[in-house]
Amino acid sequence: MRDVIIIGAGPAGLQAALTLGRMHRSALVFDSGEYRNGTVQRMHNVLANDGTAPADFRAVARAQLGEYESVALRQGAVERVSVVEGGFEAVPADGGTVERATRVILATGMADDLPPVPGLAEIWGTHAFTCPFCDGHEFAGRRIGVLGGSPRVEHIVRMLRPIVGALTVFDDGELDDEASAALSSLGADLHRAPVASVAAHADGVTVNAGEPVEVAGLFVTSATARQRAPFARQLGLGMLPSGGIEIDDFGRTSLPGVWAAGDIAHRASLPGAMASVMMAAAAGQMAAAAVVQELVA
Ligand SMILES: Cc1cc2nc3c(=O)[nH]c(=O)nc-3n(C[C@H](O)[C@H](O)[C@H](O)COP(=O)(O)OP(=O)(O)OC[C@H]3O[C@@H](n4cnc5c(N)ncnc54)[C@H](O)[C@@H]3O)c2cc1C
Repeated sequence: MRDVIIIGAGPAGLQAALTLGRMHRSALVFDSGEYRNGTVQRMHNVLANDGTAPADFRAVARAQLGEYESVALRQGAVERVSVVEGGFEAVPADGGTVERATRVILATGMADDLPPVPGLAEIWGTHAFTCPFCDGHEFAGRRIGVLGGSPRVEHIVRMLRPIVGALTVFDDGELDDEASAALSSLGADLHRAPVASVAAHADGVTVNAGEPVEVAGLFVTSATARQRAPFARQLGLGMLPSGGIEIDDFGRTSLPGVWAAGDIAHRASLPGAMASVMMAAAAGQMAAAAVVQELVA
């Protein structure tokens, strides 16, 4: 039986594996190849990697993990995790070998559900985004579009206003007079028509909303995120109103032996996980370090 099964090879899972490898603890990392930033060409706000392609970041991390003999990577999805005598069992979806370990670190990430605007899924992560910290600066001085449909519109506009040149908020008639006035006072232009479709071109995005409107990029306020994997439910882990797995300061979930790291989990003192590469990696390191402390205790 291994020390740890890590499910997920995004920044949280890869960092957890690195930490365990450096402590010569046996760890197996499962990776189904579904990364939250899988369509992103350049990630930002990542120290020493501002502008790095996420795929390159993962490739370097995996290559460096190759130096650690106690860490193995296995490509493929896990279907089920269950409690067994002395630990946990992970059942792969491909019917391959069932793996066992004394502990599990879940680092399976979140999946984003987008509003049903034709063309939006095709430009998600390349021209359409949700996080001003990650993707705002690249539009400095240019006009961007903000897709309404969520109470977060004003908040997003307030964050982007100091960065971009101009903002067009696309409103499907959901904004009341007070909200519209607040956006106008922030200098946002309101375009009141349902968005029929969006499409990227060489210099930005055409938003078809009654008429074609050109913007450099698009921020989506009504995307929602859900747990990508079913393991929190399968294991009956304590959850938070945000949809995140509840963890303590050390990444422990409500079930002894199971840790959670990255976008899927946060402490109850926070309203949600701060979804970022560095925060996910930090959480992965914390979880792995806490596992090591428990192993030596
Ligand atoms: C459009 C977009 C742009 C972004 N840009 C930035 C940015 O510029 N800078 C930044 O810091 N953050 C950015 N983010 C956020 C960043 O992508 C996440 O915070 C980060 O990827 C979270 O890492 P994670 O390890 O928790 O999850 P992920 O990176 O999503 O990794 C999850 C891992 O779990 C695996 N997995 C899931 N289910 C299973 C299963 N059943 N079996 C086996 N493996 C499984 C997946 O294959 C994957 O390996 C962006 C997000 C989006 C959506």
